[in-house]
Amino acid sequence: MEIDTVLLIDDSEIICSIIKDILESPNLHIEIAHTGEDGVRLAREVQPTLILLDIIMYGMDGYETCKILKSNEETKDIPVIFITGNNDSSSLLKGFEVGAADFVCKPFISEELKARVKVHMQNIKNQRKLQVLAEELRELATTDSLTKLYNRRYFLDKVHDLVKSNTIFSLILFDVDCFKSINDTYGHNAGDLVLTSLSRIFKLILREEDIISRWGGEEFIICLPNIEVDEAYKFAEKIRIEVSKFQFNYEGYIFNCTITGGIAQYDIKLPIDKNITKIDSALYTGKSTGKNCCILA
Ligand SMILES: [Mg+2]
Repeated sequence: MEIDTVLLIDDSEIICSIIKDILESPNLHIEIAHTGEDGVRLAREVQPTLILLDIIMYGMDGYETCKILKSNEETKDIPVIFITGNNDSSSLLKGFEVGAADFVCKPFISEELKARVKVHMQNIKNQRKLQVLAEELRELATTDSLTKLYNRRYFLDKVHDLVKSNTIFSLILFDVDCFKSINDTYGHNAGDLVLTSLSRIFKLILREEDIISRWGGEEFIICLPNIEVDEAYKFAEKIRIEVSKFQFNYEGYIFNCTITGGIAQYDIKLPIDKNITKIDSALYTGKSTGKNCCILA
């Protein structure tokens, strides 16, 4: 069972005990602070789902307390409901200005208090679920689910950005040699293992700024910003040699695998698909001349 915490900040012990009696339940825990300062400290510490905040308090009042809560990264998203004795429009307006989500007026109608707390807690939970979902969707839209590398669309967007910013860069297209025979010999899970292991090897060798993407089934494409073609060739060779030395271990079966690469410096006078065709042709040349090699376009 999920237990929520409501933080109640009110200088009156009587009010606190009344609210606690109304709200507390097996899945709702109440924390209490009697000053604004203690409330702010407790809010950071316990990260409540919701805060009930008295407006008129000794020392720091509710408005001031709310401002501090809303200006703090750790507490700014926690909804605040003001508890007020005067529901005149100017104090309500002031409350909304400092970031209140809602108001409850004293004396309380317990059902109303419960309902407001429930609605705001549900809202904030839905909002958080949406944030998580949005993050997942963003990841799904930009990455390949097996290798967790960027997908084709993301890669093309990044290349487009580099072209726009007049950055020099090179491209490498790698294809796994005899991938079909790995799948045929050891099964598709072994093939998947090869692809995920290769992704890790690539990432280990590449620099932070390089962009690597799973281009197709067993094809990987790499973009090396600020790298001219000779340097790109050295990079590609380094990767190819590392891969050829790596021993894959699938359920006790040890095997090696090689890759073939096509390399070119990006030619901004050509459209992106023509640039890709160039490295694809170089790759094809490498395949037809014995594989396990890197070929300059
Ligand atoms: Mg008070």
